[in-house]
Amino acid sequence: MTAQRTHARTQVGIVGAGPAGLMLSHLLSLAGIESVVIETRAREDIEATIRAGILEQGTVDVMVSTGIGDRLLDTGSRHDGIEIRFGGQSHRVDFPSTVGRSVHLYPQHEVLKDLITARLADDGDVRFGASDVSLHELTGTEPVVHFTDADGRPTELRCDVLAGCDGAQGTTKWSIPDNRRTDHFRDYRHGWFGILAEAPPSSKELIYAHSERGFALISSRTPTVQRMYFQCDPEEDAGAWSDNRIWDELQSRVAGNGFSLNEGRIFQRSVIPMRSYVCDPMQHGRLFLAGDAAHTVPPTGAKGLNLAISDAVVLAQALERFFDDGDTDLLDSYGRTAAQRVWRAQHFSWWMTSMLHLAPDSGDFDRHRQLAELDQITGSAAGRTLLAEGYTGWPIARTNPKSVVAEALSLTHSRRP
Ligand SMILES: Cc1cc2nc3c(=O)[nH]c(=O)nc-3n(C[C@H](O)[C@H](O)[C@H](O)COP(=O)(O)OP(=O)(O)OC[C@H]3O[C@@H](n4cnc5c(N)ncnc54)[C@H](O)[C@@H]3O)c2cc1C
Repeated sequence: MTAQRTHARTQVGIVGAGPAGLMLSHLLSLAGIESVVIETRAREDIEATIRAGILEQGTVDVMVSTGIGDRLLDTGSRHDGIEIRFGGQSHRVDFPSTVGRSVHLYPQHEVLKDLITARLADDGDVRFGASDVSLHELTGTEPVVHFTDADGRPTELRCDVLAGCDGAQGTTKWSIPDNRRTDHFRDYRHGWFGILAEAPPSSKELIYAHSERGFALISSRTPTVQRMYFQCDPEEDAGAWSDNRIWDELQSRVAGNGFSLNEGRIFQRSVIPMRSYVCDPMQHGRLFLAGDAAHTVPPTGAKGLNLAISDAVVLAQALERFFDDGDTDLLDSYGRTAAQRVWRAQHFSWWMTSMLHLAPDSGDFDRHRQLAELDQITGSAAGRTLLAEGYTGWPIARTNPKSVVAEALSLTHSRRP
């Protein structure tokens, strides 16, 4: 017998409980706007998946100013710079002295734990373990989501507005008809071989390394877990590499000046492709896309998580205006406003990628050109400032000064030394 469909209603339906969806739900709740978040994965799974780790200053400000920053300030670590290694030498780019900002190392799954805790403490409605999620009636005034909840009950959720926050593999963006959507896409034809290892940190700050064997990134997730990557063929079979071979490859890419990495047990390995994508427009009818659902960046510039948060802030301000005054002006311009930052981040991520990686068809000329560029960027105040400005992030647009989130952010800025 087919189970009866359960009917529910809310102001904002949110598909996906990643950083974009949960932050949007959190900000809306501060403004007194109801939302329901629908997520296919289990809470435990989300809270255990290790992904991004670098939070821009703006992301830190949003978390602290909206009351979910205590653990971040207690256990995260502020990074005032990065090391860039090339020609066997390290060159530090300092952030406070160039742009007066910093970044924080605080893993994405910890951000998600903070958001989930806050939503549940505020009686937020997050439906983990959903399946068969589909969107309907997007161009009307009451869009609908159908899904089956974790107990197998078919559910129909009606709402005023829908947010597609279902990440890079999500399907909400395909609800925008082909003849209205442009997919801006770039494939870099190389991937990142990523590992998680039980080892102490090798460096206080992240290391971005250019070498004759290709790029490597040395970063940390906790005092005992290190995240490292090296450039590889996107078709590389991660399972075919022994631990010794992985460590040899990583060590060779950062070698020079007596430096070496602390090694340890490798407990996770995978190959991720390097791609850039922007969905244009980021809205269709009453559906608004945010985060990786609308755009992905290669991870070189550490921008993906931060863009998800900035989209949520811009969308929350527009929704506050809509529910306060019935005015759709900020919703209508949401995609254009968000896209300005998205394209800056696309440029920054592409630039960092092309400066530090060896492209499959690059030769000796390209390697010398890259070394000259790295020399210029690390060796001049203007170069260091350009890099620091992009890495620590640009201001998040404050489109609605009356919104709760814009007010909270203004207070944080006036308090920051
Ligand atoms: C290995 C790796 C390393 C990274 N490193 C960095 C970094 O250092 N810095 C950085 O800024 N970014 C980094 N990123 C990118 C960052 O993790 C993403 O940009 C970020 O997670 C985007 O958040 P989001 O909320 O848009 O999407 P996601 O985090 O992908 O969340 C989307 C959610 O939607 C759910 N979902 C999918 N389909 C459906 C559906 N049909 N119905 C309901 N729910 C659905 C998913 O289960 C998921 O929980 C990294 C990514 C990876 C994979």
